[in-house]
Amino acid sequence: MTDLVYKCKLCGTCCHEVPGDYVKRIPIYPDEADKMIEIAKERGVDFKIIEDLVFPDVINENILVLTYRIRLDNETQGCPFYDKSEGCTIQDVKPLACQAYPLALKRQDAFNFEISIDPLCNFVIENYDKLENVDIDKLREIFKEEYPKAETFYRKNKKLMFKIRKLEVTNQIKIPHQISIEEFNKYLQQWDRKEITVK
Ligand code: SF4
Ligand code: SF4
Repeated sequence: MTDLVYKCKLCGTCCHEVPGDYVKRIPIYPDEADKMIEIAKERGVDFKIIEDLVFPDVINENILVLTYRIRLDNETQGCPFYDKSEGCTIQDVKPLACQAYPLALKRQDAFNFEISIDPLCNFVIENYDKLENVDIDKLREIFKEEYPKAETFYRKNKKLMFKIRKLEVTNQIKIPHQISIEEFNKYLQQWDRKEITVK
């Protein structure tokens, strides 16, 4: 058993791109994106978002947007809200993904996710041997503050997936389960966007 307790090393790695082929994803929900855009406007911060988790709806010819991701700054390769000396400058309103980190939602399939540990965090890298086989109870103890945030993140995601499923079974939308890249790209170019939100 481990007596490990998570303590952020304040290295800022999680707010920046990581070297290699991996593409950094800091997922944000539409309501979080709105809040961050507003703050960015007030502060004159160049903040942009990119669509992240999207599904085509072939009944209404819409692209359903479930989450966005933060577009990292070209020069620093980091989140525009990150400051070298202060760290995150939106601590009070940072998105759930950042509040829960280094816990993250790992995608199991198109509609299912599970709480997991992000292996790119420097605390995790340093303590990998101790974290490798911990169970949920231990995870809760090690990440005392982050685990409840990860649960909130998980519940919100689940609600979102449930909403999509409900719209599908009531025939209000139809998401094709098999689609070619060409077709998907065509829809992305031609169709309007519709955000799917939950509280
Ligand atoms: S919102 Fe804050 S914690 Fe999240 S990536 Fe940006 S600077 Fe980092
Ligand atoms: S990578 Fe991990 S240790 Fe470094 S700032 Fe992010 S959460 Fe903290």
